[in-house]
Amino acid sequence: MKVESRTVRAIATTILWAALPMLLGQVTAQVARAAEKPNFVVIFCDDLGYGDLGCFGHPTIRTPNLDRMAVEGQKWTNFYVGACVCTPSRAALLTGRLPIRNGMMSAKRRVLFPDSKGGLPASEITIAESLKSVGYATAAVGKWHLGHLPEYLPTAHGFDSYWGIPYSNDMDAVRGFPNYAQTARKDANYFAPIEQYNVPIIEDTKVVERPANQHTITRRYTEKTIEFIRDHRDEPFFVYLAHNLPHIPLYAGKEHLGKSRRGIFGDVIEEIDSGVGKVLATLQELELDKNTLVVFTSDNGPWLPFHTHGGSAGLLREGKGTTFEGGMREPTLFWWPGTLKPGVRMEMGATMDLLPTFCTLAGATAPSDRTLDGYDLTPLLLGKTDKSPRDRLFYWREEQLYAVRVGPWKAHFITQGCYGIGPQRQEHETPELYHLGHDPSEKYDIAALHTEQIKELVAIAEEHRQSIERVENQLIKR
Ligand code: MG
Repeated sequence: MKVESRTVRAIATTILWAALPMLLGQVTAQVARAAEKPNFVVIFCDDLGYGDLGCFGHPTIRTPNLDRMAVEGQKWTNFYVGACVCTPSRAALLTGRLPIRNGMMSAKRRVLFPDSKGGLPASEITIAESLKSVGYATAAVGKWHLGHLPEYLPTAHGFDSYWGIPYSNDMDAVRGFPNYAQTARKDANYFAPIEQYNVPIIEDTKVVERPANQHTITRRYTEKTIEFIRDHRDEPFFVYLAHNLPHIPLYAGKEHLGKSRRGIFGDVIEEIDSGVGKVLATLQELELDKNTLVVFTSDNGPWLPFHTHGGSAGLLREGKGTTFEGGMREPTLFWWPGTLKPGVRMEMGATMDLLPTFCTLAGATAPSDRTLDGYDLTPLLLGKTDKSPRDRLFYWREEQLYAVRVGPWKAHFITQGCYGIGPQRQEHETPELYHLGHDPSEKYDIAALHTEQIKELVAIAEEHRQSIERVENQLIKR
């Protein structure tokens, strides 16, 4: 018996010693990973509505990967963008500032066009620049729309590399093709010849394809992102993956075309969802998932005049181009397994908050020599508090403050639909007032019942207006 137990002990000791380096290695790797700077992946859609994902209630679009992100991570139901159209919204995300502060919004030209000579000023500090200063590898993949001239491209704004269409996928339109909106209204499965939109793909600063083959664009953006992640697995990285879709014209790859119940718009979303799945799978395969924060959101609400080729804001009012909730509230997901406590977050957040939040998480310093409109969401994300530092949002359209939200209360000073649909422009002597908790669809104006609330919101709006210094407008340069 004694001999046997001694033998067993000897064997056990041998096994332990043999396994020790492996066990120690695992612990060391975990400790090292915890001390590492987290990676950031931002997946940004174009014109995706609040109601367009399965996890945000869409009945005929399947988004199993995003649904999984929502279950394993955090689903934010009060998350906003800094403007209701492409260019200013992107400027807000990357700089943490309202675009009215850096000349990136205009009443005359609401976004940049292929004949534009302006872009995001060099004096602006982007998320990429902030993270680069603490050793991050950075890549922009997809739609840029902050200036297509070399001095404005991602490579001039802190990104090591760029690959994508530098503006909207419906630009550089070629004459002689059927009118997209009219054709699309008749056919929920319609897609245009790619030659109709002579948009380039730019690699860093050089055009490498024209017209871009948009049938494969979503797949290729995902592949470029994955390639970047693999190449930079051993250092902290930030990837900004900005899909051109589901902005019209809509195109889906072969594996997704005709597969959804929602027509080509659904095919597009399902392809984006599948790409998200591939990105998450890559992070898991490389064992980077526990050290990577993935954020999914969109630049503005659905483009409603395109009927079934535009998305849906769900129960929110109006869409892209407006300062109603449907224009500026986005379906947003945060995923970081093991670090973020899963659940639904009803507190307010905005894309402008990503810059200060990422800076904190990366140990970088957020710019302090200028006004930032973003808040550091880290304590809320990490579950150290239930309260968001953001209790307000200022809804600018063109160059005017249209509305303000503080807590659940939202006052509209000006209301206007967009692109010829929705309400006519109206300036309100007494603002319209909605309680977004009780009435997320902005249906019941209760201004007459809450005069004190109005007074408070008017004062907050006025104080905010005073904080804006007018600068050179970048969108009108041509
Ligand atoms: Mg857009």
